[in-house]
Amino acid sequence: MRLRPELKAAETFAAEDTVELAVSDGSAETDHGLLFLLTKMRSDNPPQALLEDIITTVQDRFLGLEALALASLCERSELTAKLEKLPAIPGLVETPESKVSLARAWLRCWRNYGFWLSRMPSSRWKRPRIQGVSVKGKKGKGKFDAMDIVIKDKGARKLFNTTWTPELLSLFSTDMGGEYQLRGSDLSLLFEGSWMRCATCKSVHRPVPGVTHCLDCGSENVGTLDPEKDPVFLARKGYYRRPVMAALAVPPQEPMALIAAEHTAQLNAPQNEDIFSQAEKNELLFQDVAPAWGKEARRATAIDVLSSTTTMEVGIDIGALSGVALRNMPPGRANYQQRSGRAGRRGNAVATVIAFGSADSHDEHYFAEPDGMIRGGVVDPNSRSTIAKSRAVTSAPSCFRTTIRTGYPTLMPRSRTICSRCLAAYRAFVRKRPY
Ligand SMILES: [Zn+2]
Repeated sequence: MRLRPELKAAETFAAEDTVELAVSDGSAETDHGLLFLLTKMRSDNPPQALLEDIITTVQDRFLGLEALALASLCERSELTAKLEKLPAIPGLVETPESKVSLARAWLRCWRNYGFWLSRMPSSRWKRPRIQGVSVKGKKGKGKFDAMDIVIKDKGARKLFNTTWTPELLSLFSTDMGGEYQLRGSDLSLLFEGSWMRCATCKSVHRPVPGVTHCLDCGSENVGTLDPEKDPVFLARKGYYRRPVMAALAVPPQEPMALIAAEHTAQLNAPQNEDIFSQAEKNELLFQDVAPAWGKEARRATAIDVLSSTTTMEVGIDIGALSGVALRNMPPGRANYQQRSGRAGRRGNAVATVIAFGSADSHDEHYFAEPDGMIRGGVVDPNSRSTIAKSRAVTSAPSCFRTTIRTGYPTLMPRSRTICSRCLAAYRAFVRKRPY
């Protein structure tokens, strides 16, 4: 898993450089150096997108840290002693460890609400989900329905709601006027420990002593999960879990990132102060050429995947391209050859071209009979009349219509030359079309 947030205008990764420097020159090893680092970093604002990514990485129901059996939300270490002193709930939790586990099961109930990080812009609070990650407030005195599944016994549930909930709310949340906001500063991540997996709803969670059922659906069909060995879990989640485990291993293995960027005509206009347009920059980065120097060059990341529109078809040569993936079947053989021909141009003996056939008759036909798309001659478009016709259609339909309406002699001289060509090419065409 790699957090690679998009940066807003004034945001930088300068803080990362500062820490990197402190680690490499050894000053991060000393108390004095750490204190200096703390005061230096305290006023820094992390990229907003990073803060949002942290929430989804931790709490996503399917691909979050808990769902992948990597880590779960727990309390900041200073709060553990307070959780251990919570009143016992007879028959459910009586030992200090089981109290802490139950409190963590309560923290788990917040996963649809997010948690507040101190540098978050205030607009992230309760914004519509369509606008991105948002932190929601818990109403109703902090009583979670999800907790009713964890604690099945009515008496124990009542005791939890009356004695535990107010205490937990004051430890972990901020009252925002009737709604509670979970404070990220009081949370931490627990990496070690065992895991449970429900065979009914497939949810993954930590064991809670005294609770023998699934925390999400209440099913008794739960068992201990060994995330390294369980074949079903590995088949479903192994792909996402493996790179994280490799990065955490000793010695760590660097995660492989695939960086994708866009290549469209909309990115073609360079700003006044730029040498290259964004599309040109992307083209260079795609070829592992850093187009800048100094600090910006160090931050420029090579692009692995260039997602392009048909601008790519007009003969842009981007060097040693080894593969082309077509989002749909091209309209004809000529287009196919243009698009797939971007790959395998320099020194690549093998180029891979994949075309995705969607559910329409054109795509289905060529999916069933790819020969018709891939092989055979191409109809030569180099006929004078075809070029003249298409030019007339694309460049002068309005003046063409004007000509018909007002008569040829009233037009300006420049339009006249276009229109004489239009008229020549379209004499036959006009007769068929009502103008
Ligand atoms: Zn379940």
